Amino acid sequence: MSLKVFYNSSELKLALDQFRSQNSGQVGFVPTMGALHEGHASLLREAKNNSDLVVLSIFVNPTQFGPNEDLDSYPRTLESDLEVAKTCEVDFVYVPDKEDLYPPGDSTFIEETVNSQGLCGEFRPGHFRGVTTVVYKLFQIVKPDCAYFGLKDAQQFYVLSKMVLDLGLSIEMRGVATVREKDGLALSSRNRYLSQEDREKSIQLYAELCLAKEKINSGQPVKDVCEDAVRLLSSHGFQVQYFTLREFERPKARVIAAAAYLGSTRLIDNISL
Ligand code: AMP
Repeated sequence: MSLKVFYNSSELKLALDQFRSQNSGQVGFVPTMGALHEGHASLLREAKNNSDLVVLSIFVNPTQFGPNEDLDSYPRTLESDLEVAKTCEVDFVYVPDKEDLYPPGDSTFIEETVNSQGLCGEFRPGHFRGVTTVVYKLFQIVKPDCAYFGLKDAQQFYVLSKMVLDLGLSIEMRGVATVREKDGLALSSRNRYLSQEDREKSIQLYAELCLAKEKINSGQPVKDVCEDAVRLLSSHGFQVQYFTLREFERPKARVIAAAAYLGSTRLIDNISL
């Protein structure tokens, strides 16, 4: 099947109905905000290997950005995104406009209230409410059998997994390993905004996560280990928001998670224990 691009949900739903009426195959779904890189491509490949039809959505979701965040400057690169989609043999790409997902005057949100607490939930108020709301809406349109998310955004994965469980959605959630540059920096659409100097410094975030994992596994107190990491990163010019051990429930997970600014670029990363 060659790549088809849909700009509204009615046409996409019609095409999905048609596919389902002729196939009993699995639909795999990869929601993104575009500016696609190898991290996104690995989700798409994983979806391709496990589904009969792959749907990619590209939507810079305004409700997950705070008033002083980078909604306006978030990179939008549709042409090259479609090239990535073709290379990864995506079948359907959904590129909605805001009104397609948020009818004017709407007043309904989806909110998960446990896994969304702390970490990015503390520093980006309303962020996860925006994420769960848009992903729920996308799930209602695509009705995938399986949805693929990056474990780079670990808290997002556990918030969405809990939403799927709590609302009884019959969608399998798959978390895909973080794709990194050779030097360890997790790929992110925002990395392009790092100055050359900050790009060089940025590798210290993952290096500190690896070191912290080693120290915690060898029995050093978690609090001391995390405080040392914050001190070291701060001394190199990071403005650290958090560097901490976090446990999630259902599915159970233990990660050391970190978020820090380098200049005006916000980096997040984590390592599983
Ligand atoms: P975004 O476009 O940033 O909203 O990301 C869309 C999906 O790609 C999310 O599930 C992210 O977790 C995932 N993703 C982003 N960066 C990476 C990466 N470096 N490795 C694996 N998945 C990623």
